[in-house]
Amino acid sequence: MTIKLENWRKEELGINDVIKKYPDVSRFVILKTDVQRRGYALSDKARELFDPDIHQSKGRTVFINRENINPSGLILRDGTLIVGSYTEEANFGIRDPYLVDVVNGKLVLTDQGEVLEEVEYWRKPHFFDKLTSKGNPMWQIVGSRPQRFDIALNKHCHFWDKPGGGCKYCTIGSLAKENKDKNISNLLDIDEVFEAVQEGLKQKGRFTTFCLTMGSILTGEELFDHEIQLYVDLFSKLKKLFKENKIHAQIVGSAYSKKQLEVLRDKTGVISYTTDLEVLNPKLFEWICPGKAEFVGYNEWKKRLYDAVEVFGKGNVNTGIVGGVDLAQPYGYKTEAESLKANFAEAEELAKHGVSVINSVWHVSPGTYFHNQIPPSLEYYVQLSKGLNDIREAYGIDVYFDDYRRCGNHPSSDLARI
Ligand code: SF4
Repeated sequence: MTIKLENWRKEELGINDVIKKYPDVSRFVILKTDVQRRGYALSDKARELFDPDIHQSKGRTVFINRENINPSGLILRDGTLIVGSYTEEANFGIRDPYLVDVVNGKLVLTDQGEVLEEVEYWRKPHFFDKLTSKGNPMWQIVGSRPQRFDIALNKHCHFWDKPGGGCKYCTIGSLAKENKDKNISNLLDIDEVFEAVQEGLKQKGRFTTFCLTMGSILTGEELFDHEIQLYVDLFSKLKKLFKENKIHAQIVGSAYSKKQLEVLRDKTGVISYTTDLEVLNPKLFEWICPGKAEFVGYNEWKKRLYDAVEVFGKGNVNTGIVGGVDLAQPYGYKTEAESLKANFAEAEELAKHGVSVINSVWHVSPGTYFHNQIPPSLEYYVQLSKGLNDIREAYGIDVYFDDYRRCGNHPSSDLARI
């Protein structure tokens, strides 16, 4: 059971106050951040405009099973994305959600009756309802954002094999039973992935990139060898679809050794790599990500990020954090100011080595260890996103492979625009 905050509007700055206080931060990104933080619901009229034959309501991801009648996401006028965040996904009404409504014939985001911005539903890719040669709907094989293919080869994370080993905010362990009941396979058939991508590419202009991620696989001669091998096997097939040797794709993987990173670069052709530290504090990393801490460790994870810059080049490597998860209690920071200060110090250290940091908005989800925590204020997220983007810019690190046009989930890299 998640907590419901009754008086949060009196205790925090609201959306309009934050937009006014931070005029140098895009109001679209501030709004997106708050919708991802508070979630949104649909009015009856907005529901009537949502057509699952036209709009995207499903898709395979690692952390959530999207196969219902709710929107997979929203898009704002400037191209800023709101990923997921229907109330069942985003903090489950800890703070009351926004309402997507229809006013004067337009689909709009509203808060307490005030119209804040026009919005659209994501369009469903043309390949989604086609079938693979094995008869499976392609949306069950390859997922999608408005501009990229999302491929989750493996939906099981081996950190969960040991009780208490999974990351404390993560839903992947709690989905295991649901996946089994609904016959959702953990491991994808690479031939079916190939078929879905081949079909997707027929929609000219839709896809510009790939994002590949999966639960960590700890097996192999060296830790993560089998995880790397899955990517090598996949790209040895996918390469047949492209003329170039380099493929505009991002792998969000475990923290690979330098030797493994070289294999990844040379045998897949992908051009960018992300491995998430999740929380920028070694002690809190141990508490919040015990599996990662046990098998790799905080300092080794950082070292592997620095090695990755040598392998993939500056501007092609970053690390993600779950924004605000370091405020989880009882061991997290006691104030937002303390968290921000510590995050910026560590982000600067990473930036000195060519690694940028991107933040997501923490979704407190039922079934996770942190199900009864409370994510921080909107102002915290705006300060965090702006600060991380400022550090990235100060150190001249590009983030083109993870910006609003490729990913759209991270407020900090949404700010990376001309
Ligand atoms: S590494 Fe952590 S966040 Fe990633 S899938 Fe495993 S438990 Fe979840």
